[in-house]
Amino acid sequence: NHGYIEAIIGPMYSGKSEELIRRLKRAKIAKQNIVVFKPTVDNRYSKEDVVSHSGDSIEAIPINKSSRIYDLIDEKTQVVGIDEVQFFDEKIVDVAVDLADKGIRVIAAGLDMDFRGEPFGPTPKLLAVAEFVDKIQAICSVCGHPATRSQRLVDGEPANYNDSTIKVGAVESYEARCRKCHVVKK
Ligand code: ADP
Ligand code: ZN
Repeated sequence: NHGYIEAIIGPMYSGKSEELIRRLKRAKIAKQNIVVFKPTVDNRYSKEDVVSHSGDSIEAIPINKSSRIYDLIDEKTQVVGIDEVQFFDEKIVDVAVDLADKGIRVIAAGLDMDFRGEPFGPTPKLLAVAEFVDKIQAICSVCGHPATRSQRLVDGEPANYNDSTIKVGAVESYEARCRKCHVVKK
């Protein structure tokens, strides 16, 4: 078996989960043995599934530590899917490399940049070691051009660079934006 790493990256709403689900469903059609993981921190729609903004879903196992993957796969596992890879610990890169070395197809989707436009968690390292990288775009919610960044808004206003938490009662939201329309208040 030839293992390799496929990375699907881009901003929020770019269709990363959709593309991950599409590839995994096709692997299922090919009767491949698949296991899908997501970090426990992301519970936006469902605790157990990877769900895209357009409503597609696939069953997944929420884990809080990348090394848990070893406990949850077996000799029959041929494809491992990982969503929201940016939220995993740095070890996720070693795990992905190790699985690929063992002949497993690893498909990982996640944000390449945070709301500041800076490289996000383990994603940059994963890109460096991946065989295949697809960087996909959303639609800029301001101008309609291809969006490469995630705009963080607090009560509808661009968030500050240093805001890690927000005031109780404030409403946090995100939208996809292009470089020109993306705002980070310093
Ligand atoms: P991601 O995993 O990258 O956040 P999803 O796969 O969950 O993205 O969702 C992609 C879907 O989101 C698109 O197919 C579309 O239906 C919807 N969508 C909502 N807002 C936008 C936007 N600004 N640009 C592109 N797609 C959007
Ligand atoms: Zn724009």
